[in-house]
Amino acid sequence: MTTSLTRTGLDTPTGLFIGGAWRASNSGKTFDVLDPATGEVIATVEDGDVADARAAMAAAASAQDSWAQTAPRERSVILRRAFELIIERTEELASIITAEMGKPLADARGEVAYGAEFFRWFSEEAVRISGDHTLTGDGKNRIIVTRAPVGPCILVTPWNFPLAMGTRKIGPALAAGCTVVFKPAEQTPLTALALADILVEAGVPDGVVNVVPTTNAAEVVGSWMASGSARKISFTGSTEVGKILLAQAAPTVMRTSMELGGNAPFIVAEDADVDRAVDGAMVAKMRNMGEACTAANRFFVHRSVADEFADRLAARMGSLKVGAGDGDGVEVGPLIDGEGRAKVQRLVDDALLRGARAVVGGTEAPGPGYFYPPTVLDGVDPASDLMSTEIFGPVAAVIPFDTEDEVIALANDTEWGLVGYVFTQDIDRALRMGERLEVGMVGLNTGLVSNPAAPFGGVKQSGLGREGGKVGIDEFLEYKYFAVPRS
Ligand code: ADP
Repeated sequence: MTTSLTRTGLDTPTGLFIGGAWRASNSGKTFDVLDPATGEVIATVEDGDVADARAAMAAAASAQDSWAQTAPRERSVILRRAFELIIERTEELASIITAEMGKPLADARGEVAYGAEFFRWFSEEAVRISGDHTLTGDGKNRIIVTRAPVGPCILVTPWNFPLAMGTRKIGPALAAGCTVVFKPAEQTPLTALALADILVEAGVPDGVVNVVPTTNAAEVVGSWMASGSARKISFTGSTEVGKILLAQAAPTVMRTSMELGGNAPFIVAEDADVDRAVDGAMVAKMRNMGEACTAANRFFVHRSVADEFADRLAARMGSLKVGAGDGDGVEVGPLIDGEGRAKVQRLVDDALLRGARAVVGGTEAPGPGYFYPPTVLDGVDPASDLMSTEIFGPVAAVIPFDTEDEVIALANDTEWGLVGYVFTQDIDRALRMGERLEVGMVGLNTGLVSNPAAPFGGVKQSGLGREGGKVGIDEFLEYKYFAVPRS
Protein backbone atom coordinates (compact mmCIF):
# COMPACT_ATOMS: atom_id res chain seq x y z
CA MET A 1 0.00 0.00 0.00
CA THR A 2 2.25 2.76 -1.28
CA THR A 3 2.03 5.61 -3.73
CA SER A 4 4.52 7.59 -5.76
CA LEU A 5 4.39 11.25 -4.80
CA THR A 6 3.89 13.61 -7.68
CA ARG A 7 6.78 16.15 -7.89
CA THR A 8 9.17 13.96 -5.89
CA GLY A 9 8.41 10.55 -7.41
CA LEU A 10 9.01 9.08 -3.94
CA ASP A 11 7.27 5.93 -2.82
CA THR A 12 5.52 6.43 0.50
CA PRO A 13 3.13 4.18 2.43
CA THR A 14 -0.53 5.25 2.38
CA GLY A 15 -2.19 2.59 4.54
CA LEU A 16 -3.07 2.37 8.20
CA PHE A 17 -0.36 0.71 10.26
CA ILE A 18 -1.96 -1.57 12.84
CA GLY A 19 -0.51 -4.55 14.72
CA GLY A 20 2.58 -4.59 12.54
CA ALA A 21 0.68 -4.72 9.22
CA TRP A 22 -0.38 -2.22 6.59
CA ARG A 23 -4.14 -2.18 6.14
CA ALA A 24 -6.90 -0.54 4.17
CA SER A 25 -9.45 1.40 6.19
CA ASN A 26 -12.49 -0.45 7.44
CA SER A 27 -14.63 2.39 6.05
CA GLY A 28 -13.30 1.89 2.54
CA LYS A 29 -12.68 5.64 2.45
CA THR A 30 -9.54 7.54 1.60
CA PHE A 31 -8.52 11.20 1.80
CA ASP A 32 -6.30 13.48 -0.21
CA VAL A 33 -3.05 15.03 0.93
CA LEU A 34 -2.39 18.41 -0.68
CA ASP A 35 0.79 20.24 -1.60
CA PRO A 36 0.37 23.69 0.01
CA ALA A 37 2.60 25.22 -2.67
CA THR A 38 0.12 24.36 -5.42
CA GLY A 39 -3.09 23.20 -3.73
CA GLU A 40 -2.78 19.98 -5.77
CA VAL A 41 -3.31 16.43 -4.54
CA ILE A 42 -0.01 14.62 -3.94
CA ALA A 43 -1.27 11.39 -2.39
CA THR A 44 -4.39 9.59 -1.25
CA VAL A 45 -4.30 7.99 2.18
CA GLU A 46 -6.57 5.44 3.93
CA ASP A 47 -9.05 7.25 6.17
CA GLY A 48 -9.20 5.44 9.52
CA ASP A 49 -12.56 5.08 11.28
CA VAL A 50 -13.65 4.00 14.75
CA ALA A 51 -13.34 0.27 13.94
CA ASP A 52 -9.76 0.88 12.81
CA ALA A 53 -9.13 2.90 15.96
CA ARG A 54 -10.39 0.03 18.10
CA ALA A 55 -8.17 -2.45 16.24
CA ALA A 56 -5.16 -0.19 16.80
CA MET A 57 -5.93 0.20 20.50
CA ALA A 58 -6.38 -3.57 20.87
CA ALA A 59 -3.01 -4.15 19.18
CA ALA A 60 -1.29 -1.64 21.47
CA ALA A 61 -2.93 -3.13 24.55
CA SER A 62 -1.97 -6.69 23.69
CA ALA A 63 1.65 -5.74 22.94
CA GLN A 64 2.01 -3.71 26.17
CA ASP A 65 3.06 -6.42 28.59
CA SER A 66 5.76 -8.02 26.45
CA TRP A 67 7.13 -4.62 25.40
CA ALA A 68 7.29 -3.53 29.04
CA GLN A 69 9.27 -6.70 29.80
CA THR A 70 11.96 -6.08 27.18
CA ALA A 71 15.42 -5.23 28.42
CA PRO A 72 16.10 -1.48 28.47
CA ARG A 73 19.09 -2.10 26.20
CA GLU A 74 16.86 -3.79 23.63
CA ARG A 75 14.57 -0.75 23.50
CA SER A 76 17.60 1.50 23.41
CA VAL A 77 19.15 -0.35 20.46
CA ILE A 78 15.90 -0.18 18.47
CA LEU A 79 15.60 3.58 19.01
CA ARG A 80 19.25 4.08 18.15
CA ARG A 81 18.77 2.13 14.91
CA ALA A 82 15.72 4.22 14.09
CA PHE A 83 17.79 7.37 14.67
CA GLU A 84 20.42 6.13 12.24
CA LEU A 85 17.86 5.13 9.62
CA ILE A 86 16.22 8.56 9.79
CA ILE A 87 19.59 10.24 9.28
CA GLU A 88 20.40 7.91 6.35
CA ARG A 89 17.07 8.82 4.78
CA THR A 90 17.31 12.55 5.38
CA GLU A 91 16.73 13.49 1.75
CA GLU A 92 13.72 11.22 1.35
CA LEU A 93 12.07 12.35 4.59
CA ALA A 94 12.83 16.02 3.93
CA SER A 95 11.19 15.73 0.50
CA ILE A 96 8.06 14.20 2.03
CA ILE A 97 7.89 16.92 4.72
CA THR A 98 8.28 19.66 2.12
CA ALA A 99 5.73 18.08 -0.19
CA GLU A 100 2.95 17.78 2.38
CA MET A 101 3.73 20.65 4.74
CA GLY A 102 5.40 23.25 2.54
CA LYS A 103 8.54 24.26 4.46
CA PRO A 104 11.69 24.83 2.38
CA LEU A 105 13.87 21.77 1.87
CA ALA A 106 16.69 23.23 3.97
CA ASP A 107 14.29 23.64 6.90
CA ALA A 108 12.88 20.16 6.30
CA ARG A 109 16.42 18.74 6.51
CA GLY A 110 16.80 20.65 9.77
CA GLU A 111 13.61 19.08 11.05
CA VAL A 112 14.85 15.62 10.11
CA ALA A 113 18.04 16.17 12.13
CA TYR A 114 16.05 17.61 15.05
CA GLY A 115 13.41 14.86 14.88
CA ALA A 116 15.98 12.06 14.68
CA GLU A 117 17.75 13.47 17.71
CA PHE A 118 14.77 12.63 19.94
CA PHE A 119 15.34 8.95 19.15
CA ARG A 120 19.05 9.21 19.92
CA TRP A 121 18.38 11.11 23.14
CA PHE A 122 15.73 8.65 24.36
CA SER A 123 17.78 5.63 23.26
CA GLU A 124 20.29 6.93 25.79
CA GLU A 125 17.62 7.58 28.44
CA ALA A 126 16.08 4.11 28.08
CA VAL A 127 18.99 2.53 29.97
CA ARG A 128 19.09 5.22 32.68
CA ILE A 129 15.65 4.73 34.21
CA SER A 130 16.44 4.50 37.89
CA GLY A 131 14.67 4.12 41.23
CA ASP A 132 15.48 4.63 44.87
CA HIS A 133 16.19 2.55 47.96
CA THR A 134 15.92 4.07 51.42
CA LEU A 135 14.81 3.17 54.94
CA THR A 136 11.82 4.41 56.87
CA GLY A 137 12.71 6.91 59.59
CA ASP A 138 12.58 4.28 62.32
CA GLY A 139 14.79 1.93 60.32
CA LYS A 140 12.26 -0.88 60.45
CA ASN A 141 11.28 -0.93 56.79
CA ARG A 142 12.93 -0.68 53.42
CA ILE A 143 11.44 1.67 50.82
CA ILE A 144 12.21 0.38 47.34
CA VAL A 145 11.02 2.67 44.55
CA THR A 146 10.92 1.44 40.98
CA ARG A 147 9.65 2.98 37.75
CA ALA A 148 7.08 1.28 35.53
CA PRO A 149 5.75 2.26 32.09
CA VAL A 150 2.34 3.95 32.34
CA GLY A 151 0.87 1.61 29.70
CA PRO A 152 -0.61 2.15 26.24
CA CYS A 153 -0.38 5.79 25.17
CA ILE A 154 -2.40 7.93 22.77
CA LEU A 155 -0.23 10.30 20.73
CA VAL A 156 -1.80 13.14 18.73
CA THR A 157 0.33 15.59 16.74
CA PRO A 158 -0.08 18.73 14.61
CA TRP A 159 1.07 19.37 11.04
CA ASN A 160 3.79 21.98 11.60
CA PHE A 161 6.63 19.55 12.42
CA PRO A 162 5.32 16.29 10.93
CA LEU A 163 8.39 14.26 11.89
CA ALA A 164 9.71 15.88 15.06
CA MET A 165 6.35 16.07 16.84
CA GLY A 166 6.03 12.31 16.31
CA THR A 167 9.55 11.34 17.39
CA ARG A 168 9.33 13.63 20.43
CA LYS A 169 6.46 11.47 21.71
CA ILE A 170 7.28 8.03 20.29
CA GLY A 171 10.91 8.23 21.54
CA PRO A 172 10.19 8.60 25.26
CA ALA A 173 7.12 6.33 25.13
CA LEU A 174 9.07 3.44 23.61
CA ALA A 175 12.11 4.07 25.82
CA ALA A 176 9.88 3.86 28.91
CA GLY A 177 8.29 0.59 27.71
CA CYS A 178 4.94 1.95 26.54
CA THR A 179 3.11 0.96 23.37
CA VAL A 180 1.38 3.67 21.34
CA VAL A 181 -1.51 4.53 19.06
CA PHE A 182 -0.53 7.54 17.01
CA LYS A 183 -2.79 9.90 15.07
CA PRO A 184 -0.85 12.36 12.94
CA ALA A 185 -2.46 15.54 11.62
CA GLU A 186 -4.68 14.99 8.57
CA GLN A 187 -2.65 17.53 6.56
CA THR A 188 0.61 15.60 7.05
CA PRO A 189 0.08 11.84 7.40
CA LEU A 190 2.80 10.78 4.93
CA THR A 191 5.77 11.61 7.14
CA ALA A 192 4.20 9.65 10.01
CA LEU A 193 3.64 6.64 7.77
CA ALA A 194 7.22 6.83 6.48
CA LEU A 195 8.32 6.91 10.11
CA ALA A 196 6.31 3.75 10.85
CA ASP A 197 8.18 2.06 8.01
CA ILE A 198 11.49 3.07 9.57
CA LEU A 199 10.45 1.83 13.01
CA VAL A 200 9.61 -1.59 11.56
CA GLU A 201 13.01 -1.74 9.92
CA ALA A 202 14.61 -0.73 13.21
CA GLY A 203 13.01 -3.75 14.87
CA VAL A 204 9.96 -2.40 16.72
CA PRO A 205 7.77 -5.46 17.45
CA ASP A 206 4.24 -5.76 16.05
CA GLY A 207 1.62 -3.73 17.90
CA VAL A 208 4.09 -1.49 19.74
CA VAL A 209 3.54 1.42 17.33
CA ASN A 210 0.21 1.81 15.50
CA VAL A 211 -0.53 4.72 13.19
CA VAL A 212 -4.05 5.75 12.18
CA PRO A 213 -4.38 8.73 9.83
CA THR A 214 -7.96 9.98 9.66
CA THR A 215 -10.14 12.92 8.78
CA ASN A 216 -12.27 11.99 11.80
CA ALA A 217 -9.93 13.06 14.58
CA ALA A 218 -12.70 13.57 17.13
CA GLU A 219 -14.14 10.08 16.61
CA VAL A 220 -10.88 8.16 16.32
CA VAL A 221 -9.15 9.86 19.24
CA GLY A 222 -12.44 9.94 21.16
CA SER A 223 -12.74 6.15 20.88
CA TRP A 224 -9.19 5.78 22.25
CA MET A 225 -9.93 8.18 25.10
CA ALA A 226 -13.04 6.20 26.06
CA SER A 227 -11.49 2.76 25.49
CA GLY A 228 -10.43 2.15 29.07
CA SER A 229 -7.20 0.60 27.73
CA ALA A 230 -5.22 3.81 27.23
CA ARG A 231 -3.34 5.08 30.28
CA LYS A 232 -2.02 8.32 28.92
CA ILE A 233 -2.48 10.94 26.22
CA SER A 234 0.33 13.10 24.89
CA PHE A 235 -1.06 15.86 22.71
CA THR A 236 0.47 18.74 20.77
CA GLY A 237 -1.93 21.17 19.15
CA SER A 238 -4.35 23.95 19.89
CA THR A 239 -5.42 24.92 23.39
CA GLU A 240 -9.01 24.49 22.25
CA VAL A 241 -8.57 20.80 21.36
CA GLY A 242 -6.31 20.29 24.39
CA LYS A 243 -9.17 21.33 26.66
CA ILE A 244 -11.53 18.84 24.96
CA LEU A 245 -8.98 16.07 25.54
CA LEU A 246 -8.43 17.09 29.17
CA ALA A 247 -12.18 16.75 29.72
CA GLN A 248 -12.17 13.36 27.97
CA ALA A 249 -9.27 12.23 30.18
CA ALA A 250 -11.25 12.87 33.36
CA PRO A 251 -13.62 9.86 33.34
CA THR A 252 -10.71 7.39 33.27
CA VAL A 253 -8.31 9.62 35.25
CA MET A 254 -5.87 9.33 32.38
CA ARG A 255 -2.45 10.95 32.60
CA THR A 256 -1.99 13.85 30.23
CA SER A 257 0.85 15.76 28.59
CA MET A 258 -0.30 18.85 26.73
CA GLU A 259 1.82 21.05 24.46
CA LEU A 260 -0.64 23.75 23.50
CA GLY A 261 -0.56 27.20 21.99
CA GLY A 262 1.89 30.01 22.59
CA ASN A 263 1.97 33.80 22.35
CA ALA A 264 5.68 34.39 22.81
CA PRO A 265 6.93 37.83 23.78
CA PHE A 266 10.27 38.88 22.25
CA ILE A 267 11.69 41.70 24.34
CA VAL A 268 14.46 43.99 23.11
CA ALA A 269 15.79 46.26 25.89
CA GLU A 270 17.40 49.64 25.16
CA ASP A 271 20.87 48.21 25.86
CA ALA A 272 20.45 45.17 23.58
CA ASP A 273 22.93 44.37 20.83
CA VAL A 274 20.55 45.17 17.97
CA ASP A 275 22.43 42.99 15.46
CA ARG A 276 22.05 40.04 17.77
CA ALA A 277 18.41 40.87 18.43
CA VAL A 278 17.65 40.98 14.70
CA ASP A 279 19.46 37.65 14.19
CA GLY A 280 17.45 36.17 17.06
CA ALA A 281 14.22 37.62 15.68
CA MET A 282 14.85 36.00 12.29
CA VAL A 283 14.99 32.60 13.96
CA ALA A 284 12.22 33.18 16.51
CA LYS A 285 9.90 34.53 13.81
CA MET A 286 10.86 32.87 10.56
CA ARG A 287 11.67 29.29 11.63
CA ASN A 288 8.94 27.25 9.94
CA MET A 289 7.44 30.44 8.37
CA GLY A 290 6.20 31.44 11.82
CA GLU A 291 4.11 28.26 12.02
CA ALA A 292 5.49 27.19 15.39
CA CYS A 293 4.09 27.46 18.91
CA THR A 294 7.47 28.91 19.91
CA ALA A 295 7.26 31.65 17.25
CA ALA A 296 7.73 35.18 18.56
CA ASN A 297 4.22 36.62 18.36
CA ARG A 298 4.77 40.03 19.98
CA PHE A 299 7.99 42.05 19.59
CA PHE A 300 8.23 44.49 22.50
CA VAL A 301 11.07 46.85 21.62
CA HIS A 302 12.26 49.77 23.75
CA ARG A 303 11.01 53.00 22.18
CA SER A 304 14.59 54.29 21.71
CA VAL A 305 15.44 51.39 19.32
CA ALA A 306 11.99 50.33 18.06
CA ASP A 307 12.12 52.02 14.63
CA GLU A 308 15.73 50.97 14.01
CA PHE A 309 14.90 47.37 14.98
CA ALA A 310 11.76 47.32 12.81
CA ASP A 311 13.61 48.74 9.79
CA ARG A 312 16.51 46.32 10.10
CA LEU A 313 14.24 43.33 10.65
CA ALA A 314 12.13 44.42 7.67
CA ALA A 315 15.25 44.64 5.47
CA ARG A 316 16.20 41.08 6.43
CA MET A 317 12.71 39.60 6.22
CA GLY A 318 11.89 41.44 3.00
CA SER A 319 14.95 39.98 1.25
CA LEU A 320 13.98 36.36 1.90
CA LYS A 321 13.11 34.31 -1.16
CA VAL A 322 9.49 33.10 -1.09
CA GLY A 323 8.40 30.10 -3.16
CA ALA A 324 7.65 26.39 -3.32
CA GLY A 325 9.75 24.61 -0.71
CA ASP A 326 11.68 22.56 -3.27
CA GLY A 327 12.56 25.64 -5.36
CA ASP A 328 16.17 26.78 -5.69
CA GLY A 329 17.29 28.93 -2.77
CA VAL A 330 13.76 29.26 -1.36
CA GLU A 331 13.74 30.43 2.27
CA VAL A 332 10.01 30.88 2.91
CA GLY A 333 7.45 28.31 1.79
CA PRO A 334 3.66 28.54 1.67
CA LEU A 335 1.43 28.47 4.74
CA ILE A 336 -0.41 25.23 5.39
CA ASP A 337 -3.76 26.12 3.86
CA GLY A 338 -6.13 28.88 2.77
CA GLU A 339 -7.70 29.11 6.22
CA GLY A 340 -4.32 29.66 7.90
CA ARG A 341 -3.44 32.36 5.39
CA ALA A 342 -6.81 34.13 5.70
CA LYS A 343 -6.33 34.28 9.47
CA VAL A 344 -2.91 35.92 9.05
CA GLN A 345 -4.37 38.51 6.66
CA ARG A 346 -7.24 39.25 9.05
CA LEU A 347 -4.81 39.89 11.92
CA VAL A 348 -2.60 42.13 9.76
CA ASP A 349 -5.62 44.13 8.52
CA ASP A 350 -6.82 44.64 12.09
CA ALA A 351 -3.39 45.94 13.22
CA LEU A 352 -3.17 48.28 10.20
CA LEU A 353 -6.66 49.65 10.90
CA ARG A 354 -5.51 50.43 14.43
CA GLY A 355 -2.65 52.55 13.13
CA ALA A 356 0.29 50.16 12.59
CA ARG A 357 2.71 50.80 9.72
CA ALA A 358 3.59 47.94 7.32
CA VAL A 359 7.35 48.36 6.94
CA VAL A 360 7.40 45.41 4.57
CA GLY A 361 4.74 42.98 3.29
CA GLY A 362 1.16 43.13 4.55
CA THR A 363 -0.78 41.71 1.60
CA GLU A 364 -1.20 38.05 0.74
CA ALA A 365 0.42 36.79 -2.44
CA PRO A 366 -1.85 35.73 -5.33
CA GLY A 367 -2.41 31.94 -5.74
CA PRO A 368 -1.94 29.14 -6.54
CA GLY A 369 -0.49 28.03 -3.23
CA TYR A 370 -0.93 29.62 0.16
CA PHE A 371 1.95 32.09 0.17
CA TYR A 372 2.18 35.05 2.53
CA PRO A 373 5.06 37.52 2.30
CA PRO A 374 7.30 38.15 5.31
CA THR A 375 5.73 41.16 7.01
CA VAL A 376 6.93 43.64 9.64
CA LEU A 377 4.41 45.93 11.32
CA ASP A 378 5.75 48.83 13.39
CA GLY A 379 3.92 50.92 15.99
CA VAL A 380 1.38 48.20 16.70
CA ASP A 381 -1.41 49.16 19.14
CA PRO A 382 -1.43 46.70 22.08
CA ALA A 383 -5.22 46.48 21.67
CA SER A 384 -4.74 44.75 18.27
CA ASP A 385 -6.13 41.22 17.85
CA LEU A 386 -2.71 39.75 17.06
CA MET A 387 -1.64 40.51 20.63
CA SER A 388 -4.01 37.85 21.91
CA THR A 389 -4.06 35.46 18.93
CA GLU A 390 -1.36 33.09 17.68
CA ILE A 391 -0.45 34.54 14.27
CA PHE A 392 1.11 31.30 12.92
CA GLY A 393 2.60 33.13 9.96
CA PRO A 394 5.59 35.27 8.93
CA VAL A 395 4.36 38.48 10.56
CA ALA A 396 6.41 40.41 13.12
CA ALA A 397 4.43 42.96 15.15
CA VAL A 398 6.61 45.59 16.87
CA ILE A 399 5.15 47.28 19.95
CA PRO A 400 7.25 50.04 21.54
CA PHE A 401 7.63 50.14 25.35
CA ASP A 402 9.20 52.52 27.86
CA THR A 403 9.86 50.72 31.17
CA GLU A 404 10.74 47.24 32.38
CA ASP A 405 7.66 46.98 34.59
CA GLU A 406 5.46 48.01 31.67
CA VAL A 407 6.92 45.40 29.30
CA ILE A 408 6.73 42.58 31.83
CA ALA A 409 3.06 43.39 32.45
CA LEU A 410 2.37 43.49 28.69
CA ALA A 411 4.30 40.25 28.08
CA ASN A 412 2.40 38.42 30.85
CA ASP A 413 -0.97 39.77 29.78
CA THR A 414 -1.94 36.55 27.98
CA GLU A 415 -3.51 33.25 28.88
CA TRP A 416 -0.52 31.46 27.35
CA GLY A 417 2.97 30.93 28.76
CA LEU A 418 5.16 28.77 26.55
CA VAL A 419 8.32 30.75 25.83
CA GLY A 420 9.70 34.29 26.09
CA TYR A 421 12.78 35.83 24.48
CA VAL A 422 14.83 38.58 26.16
CA PHE A 423 17.60 40.59 24.52
CA THR A 424 19.80 42.75 26.75
CA GLN A 425 23.54 42.94 27.47
CA ASP A 426 22.95 43.26 31.21
CA ILE A 427 23.07 39.73 32.66
CA ASP A 428 21.35 40.78 35.86
CA ARG A 429 18.48 42.33 33.97
CA ALA A 430 18.29 39.33 31.60
CA LEU A 431 17.83 36.90 34.48
CA ARG A 432 15.49 39.24 36.38
CA MET A 433 13.23 39.67 33.37
CA GLY A 434 13.37 35.96 32.57
CA GLU A 435 12.35 35.18 36.14
CA ARG A 436 9.39 37.57 35.95
CA LEU A 437 8.05 36.19 32.66
CA GLU A 438 5.25 33.65 33.15
CA VAL A 439 6.61 31.06 30.73
CA GLY A 440 8.09 27.56 30.73
CA MET A 441 11.13 28.50 28.62
CA VAL A 442 13.25 31.63 28.20
CA GLY A 443 15.62 32.41 25.33
CA LEU A 444 18.28 34.85 26.58
CA ASN A 445 19.88 36.61 23.61
CA THR A 446 18.80 33.72 21.38
CA GLY A 447 15.77 33.04 19.24
CA LEU A 448 15.94 29.24 19.50
CA VAL A 449 15.08 27.18 22.58
CA SER A 450 14.01 23.81 21.13
CA ASN A 451 16.47 21.00 21.80
CA PRO A 452 15.92 17.31 22.59
CA ALA A 453 18.20 17.62 25.61
CA ALA A 454 16.06 20.40 27.14
CA PRO A 455 12.67 20.20 28.89
CA PHE A 456 10.23 21.73 26.41
CA GLY A 457 6.86 22.93 27.70
CA GLY A 458 4.78 25.75 29.00
CA VAL A 459 2.78 27.13 31.92
CA LYS A 460 -0.72 28.60 32.11
CA GLN A 461 -2.81 27.52 29.10
CA SER A 462 0.27 26.53 27.09
CA GLY A 463 0.12 23.10 28.64
CA LEU A 464 1.07 20.46 31.14
CA GLY A 465 4.24 18.41 31.36
CA ARG A 466 7.58 18.58 29.56
CA GLU A 467 8.99 16.88 26.46
CA GLY A 468 12.69 16.16 26.11
CA GLY A 469 15.52 16.59 28.56
CA LYS A 470 16.05 14.38 31.59
CA VAL A 471 12.40 14.75 32.62
CA GLY A 472 10.91 13.84 29.23
CA ILE A 473 10.79 10.13 29.98
CA ASP A 474 9.07 10.73 33.35
CA GLU A 475 5.89 11.64 31.50
CA PHE A 476 5.67 7.97 30.44
CA LEU A 477 6.63 6.36 33.76
CA GLU A 478 4.84 5.71 37.03
CA TYR A 479 6.49 5.35 40.42
CA LYS A 480 5.96 2.01 42.13
CA TYR A 481 6.94 1.66 45.77
CA PHE A 482 7.62 -1.64 47.54
CA ALA A 483 7.35 -1.66 51.35
CA VAL A 484 9.72 -4.34 52.66
CA PRO A 485 10.15 -4.97 56.39
CA ARG A 486 13.70 -5.52 57.73
CA SER A 487 13.84 -8.52 59.94
P1 ADP B 1 -3.97 23.00 14.53
O1 ADP B 1 -4.74 24.26 14.64
O2 ADP B 1 -2.51 23.12 14.65
O3 ADP B 1 -4.39 22.13 13.37
P2 ADP B 1 -5.44 21.25 16.24
O4 ADP B 1 -5.48 21.28 17.73
O5 ADP B 1 -6.72 21.51 15.51
O6 ADP B 1 -4.32 22.26 15.87
O7 ADP B 1 -4.88 19.87 15.72
C1 ADP B 1 -3.83 19.17 16.35
C2 ADP B 1 -4.14 17.69 16.28
O8 ADP B 1 -5.33 17.44 17.00
C3 ADP B 1 -4.38 17.16 14.86
O9 ADP B 1 -3.83 15.87 14.77
C4 ADP B 1 -5.89 17.13 14.78
O10 ADP B 1 -6.37 16.19 13.85
C5 ADP B 1 -6.24 16.70 16.19
N1 ADP B 1 -7.61 17.03 16.59
C6 ADP B 1 -8.41 18.01 16.15
N2 ADP B 1 -9.60 17.97 16.77
C7 ADP B 1 -9.57 16.92 17.62
C8 ADP B 1 -10.50 16.34 18.56
N3 ADP B 1 -11.70 16.86 18.74
N4 ADP B 1 -10.10 15.28 19.27
C9 ADP B 1 -8.86 14.77 19.10
N5 ADP B 1 -7.94 15.25 18.26
C10 ADP B 1 -8.29 16.32 17.51
